[in-house]
Amino acid sequence: MNISIIPPPDQGTSRNRIYRLIFTHDRISKPEISKALDLSLPTVIQNVRAMIEDGILRENGYLQSNGGRKAAALSCVENARYAVGLDITQRHINAVLINLRGEIIQQSRIRRGFEASQGYYRVLGDLVEQLTAECRDSVLGVGISLPGLISRDKQVLEYSHVFRISNEKCRDIAQFIPFPAQLYNDANAAGTAELWARPSIRDTFYLSISNSVGGAIFINGELYEGANQRAGEFGHMTLVDGGRLCYCGKPGCVDAYCSMKSLLDDEQESLEDFFAALNAGDKSHQARWDRYTDDLSMAVNNVRTLFDGDIIVGGYLGEQIGERIEELREKVAARNTFEGSATYIQPCAFHRSAAAVGAALVFIQQFIHSV
Ligand SMILES: [Zn+2]
Repeated sequence: MNISIIPPPDQGTSRNRIYRLIFTHDRISKPEISKALDLSLPTVIQNVRAMIEDGILRENGYLQSNGGRKAAALSCVENARYAVGLDITQRHINAVLINLRGEIIQQSRIRRGFEASQGYYRVLGDLVEQLTAECRDSVLGVGISLPGLISRDKQVLEYSHVFRISNEKCRDIAQFIPFPAQLYNDANAAGTAELWARPSIRDTFYLSISNSVGGAIFINGELYEGANQRAGEFGHMTLVDGGRLCYCGKPGCVDAYCSMKSLLDDEQESLEDFFAALNAGDKSHQARWDRYTDDLSMAVNNVRTLFDGDIIVGGYLGEQIGERIEELREKVAARNTFEGSATYIQPCAFHRSAAAVGAALVFIQQFIHSV
């Protein structure tokens, strides 16, 4: 499945190329479209008229042109379609309704522990009903983000260690959702949202660092899933031979050193508390942070050396790291054989809602391709 972030308008039907070109511009005129795509003006006029009738394009004032008369400007109707994203975590459900621009129109976050039951799945259906009450006829679908391995056709949660289930089907999870639904791995979904927010970045390794550690690889703007949909499972790379036991059962995995659990003291300490104490100059917090970033910098440098692309730090750590990302950059740069700086390490743009937005965006991207 192609989920290119900003698709180049050089392939496809004239209609689709025109739509995609307008999508990547705030406003553009018909003569500009004709020139940019090397299409005749009558072809552009005919396609634009049809898409205005379909309600997906609109006239949007006038553009100043060189010399001649002003040209009518065209824009996409960003609220012509919507998609819903649900991010299911161990203890919460994050739900968003987004428009074609990826803007959050409505959102909701509820505390509810996951269980594979009719009662829980009914809650998902109720959430979707609430979010879509005003726009039912314009909803493309519902993307569901989960912590686990998803089948290639996005219809089966093959395995989730966190939820202790396997082979849970989308048609069961989405049985109370009255729209097409697909499942996504949480790190892949969050990474998709991050790339959408940074269209200039093409090759990216997205690190999801929360209670567990995951990742997603994007090459030339497209998600790389691997032969078994396990590409980017960064948390289970071996960091220390015979080291701490990972929740997966193997010793020495990155997860056992780089998850938030290995940074925080216990269940009671929040990451906000940790950074507040660290930034206030507490010595014991600084010692823990130093140990933690020693380990994380090793893992990140390994990724950089293998991948040679941008690295986005996401998850709870990405939300909270702030200026402290400089310390991570310095440690990674010090380990790297080829580079003296690590400005390619970036904090995430989205907070909390990344996986929900990313799961919804997949439907938006499919729509943009199919216009
Ligand atoms: Zn592991």
